Amino acid sequence: MMRLDPDLRLQILERVGIYSARFGIEEPRVVLSTKEVLELPKEITQGRRTSAYKYLGVSYMQHNLVFINVKKIPDGKTLDNTIVHELMHMRFPYLSHGKRFNRLVRRGLAGKIFKPYQKRV
Ligand SMILES: [Zn+2]
Repeated sequence: MMRLDPDLRLQILERVGIYSARFGIEEPRVVLSTKEVLELPKEITQGRRTSAYKYLGVSYMQHNLVFINVKKIPDGKTLDNTIVHELMHMRFPYLSHGKRFNRLVRRGLAGKIFKPYQKRV
């Protein structure tokens, strides 16, 4: 298990910044403990509030907010995976889990740069 000290917190925010830039998305707000999730306004976390602790990460796409459940994450590799997974949801909001999504996560982890997501009008 990883210990959420100020160093790790900073490290995670740095990783989120780097990957967000690569994925062409606006850097999301990040929360790193279930306590922080519960402190958020209910309208943000609606539906995924008290269940958030079960997951390694949750994206609240409508609010450009990501929860990385540090307490549940065993090591640095899983941490990076979780960060990239959640940010991919932000970059590809129309994709659900599956082969295509997993391939994009692998590419993201490998350093791929994505053009910004263009909302269709
Ligand atoms: Zn997911």
